[in-house]
Amino acid sequence: MRVLITGAAGFLGSHLSDRFLAEGHEVVGVDNLITGDSSNLGHLQRDERFRFSRQDVSRALEVDGSVDGVLHFASPASPIDYLEHPIATLDVGSLGTRNALELARAQGARFFMASTSEVYGDPLEHPQRETYWGNVNPIGPRSVYDEAKRFSEALTMAYHRQHGLDTRIVRIFNTYGPRMRARDGRVVSNFVVQALAGDPLTIYGEGSQSRSFCYVSDEVDGIYRLFMHGDAEPTNIGNPDEFTVRELADLVLELTGSKSKIVARPLPIDDPKVRRPDITRAREMLGWSPRVPLREGLKHTIEWFKGQGI
Ligand code: UDP
Repeated sequence: MRVLITGAAGFLGSHLSDRFLAEGHEVVGVDNLITGDSSNLGHLQRDERFRFSRQDVSRALEVDGSVDGVLHFASPASPIDYLEHPIATLDVGSLGTRNALELARAQGARFFMASTSEVYGDPLEHPQRETYWGNVNPIGPRSVYDEAKRFSEALTMAYHRQHGLDTRIVRIFNTYGPRMRARDGRVVSNFVVQALAGDPLTIYGEGSQSRSFCYVSDEVDGIYRLFMHGDAEPTNIGNPDEFTVRELADLVLELTGSKSKIVARPLPIDDPKVRRPDITRAREMLGWSPRVPLREGLKHTIEWFKGQGI
């Protein structure tokens, strides 16, 4: 197959490009590089089956030749990024999704939407099944991401129903691993970088809020299987092992051997109190479940950051 991946220079987009290439496919990677980093694709420069095209998918999306799949992964995805680029985030999740869907339709290609556990907002159902409609503040600072992704899901389903487009929607839960940016702002990269530098680990609020962290190779495996073998209904892909932020901080300190202290910082507005995927659907439909425990994934991540000179 030949697939186009938007956001290919990002954390997930670059790992996903690697996976498609490893499976023998061709990849056209698109990115405008506002939060993506071309160094994530440096190792693919000489691969003839990979092509990079710098485009802003919110303006237009073009491709030379034909593609069999369009995977829409472009978007700022860390809270600090989407707070810094609120309108660009809304654009890429609305105009960008529309452009990506139109390209898939014109090409007769399968469309794959990278959605998020943020569609569940601050959830009142726990763990979250795909049937849960969520609890999202439509006008809060996080809404630029949450509502853009909810709109993307609605638009994807509309193309599926009205045009019969072959579509997929993945709801991605907190994912971590090599190629996260040191200044990404998310909790795993922050804690690892702080611990390695001997700086205090910044816990927002009391640290009793929970997340369920999925190692990137597991996440990409679930995404690849969903693309190949899934259906149009949204599917959670994440690791259901749940940890509080404080537990994560303690584990990072243990694995790095760091003497860093822990300091409290204000809790961001509308920060979800709990998050954990119910992955029954992915297990049954795709035969997928995550394999890498947090302790092991963190070791790889710490080694990678050390290799970056951090
Ligand atoms: N968090 C934290 N310290 C940090 C960064 C994040 O305590 O330096 C918390 C944040 O408030 C949230 C959780 O860690 O409760 C996960 O945050 P992240 O930004 O990684 O992802 P989110 O799930 O909020 O999108």
